[in-house]
Amino acid sequence: MGHELERACEWVDESRRIVVLTGAGISTESGIPDFRGPQGLWTKNPKAEKLSDIRYYMSDPEVRRLAWQQRLAHPAWQAKPNPGHLALVSLEESGRLHALVTQNIDGLHQVAGNSPEKVVEVHGTIHQVVCMSCDWRGPMQTTLERVRAGEEDPACRNCGGILKSATISFGQSLVPEVIDRAMRAAGQADLLLAVGTSLSVYPVANAVPLAKSAGARVVILNAEPTPMDSVADALLRGAIGEVLPKLVDKLGPRHLTSDKRLT
Ligand code: NAD
Repeated sequence: MGHELERACEWVDESRRIVVLTGAGISTESGIPDFRGPQGLWTKNPKAEKLSDIRYYMSDPEVRRLAWQQRLAHPAWQAKPNPGHLALVSLEESGRLHALVTQNIDGLHQVAGNSPEKVVEVHGTIHQVVCMSCDWRGPMQTTLERVRAGEEDPACRNCGGILKSATISFGQSLVPEVIDRAMRAAGQADLLLAVGTSLSVYPVANAVPLAKSAGARVVILNAEPTPMDSVADALLRGAIGEVLPKLVDKLGPRHLTSDKRLT
């Protein structure tokens, strides 16, 4: 085991309120591509970025038709949690996980077994659909059935408005209570562990310097450098599915409840 990994293991063991911040990189080993990694959707096809921009989505029916086709074929429907996700379940079972803040929309942390109350989905979820006019929400699969049945751009059955996955697109505001909850948790952390994120999407990337300035140690596990590497106390490179299990491997239970509850 490398020196950095050994040190990080000790810190994880010592910590009581770990906040984990995950990004698309934790799900690539489950077959869901990231955006900016070497095999990322945008690295390979920069035009795909348009489909994630709310301005094009709202103004261009062709973009919506393409987006619905992409949702139909989304790898999340078949994806299974990988050893990286399972390691975070072990971390929660050890009593050290304060919050699991995720930029991912795939729901794999909950499928793996992390408690829904611990998971803060700052960029929403692909498992639900929302109406952009009346805020109606419903399960994604029901709307996908309508697409399969031939509706290329299904409209809200309540009000005729534009439907979209309940994810935050570029140009769209975050849900204030959700991002506030994530930032509050980061400020309460004694260790912030960033996993599989390029830390280039704001404001959530600010969780890293915020935790650091509130006194937390910062560990970054990512295959590539990030703009926050200078803030980190330990930098771990390598495949998440290999490194993350090692980080939690020897943890005993720490039957301590967090003294600052995540609200
Ligand atoms: P990103 O694509 O910007 O960065 C992912 C990082 O993970 C890259 O730096 C890459 O080198 C690293 N990485 C990829 N696979 C890895 C592995 N197996 N081991 C170690 N490192 C690995 O992702 P981001 O920072 O999360 O930002 C992208 C945005 O796109 C997020 O806001 C998220 O909402 C969304 N997104 C989500 C999913 C998903 O839900 N699975 C997938 C793609 C994009």
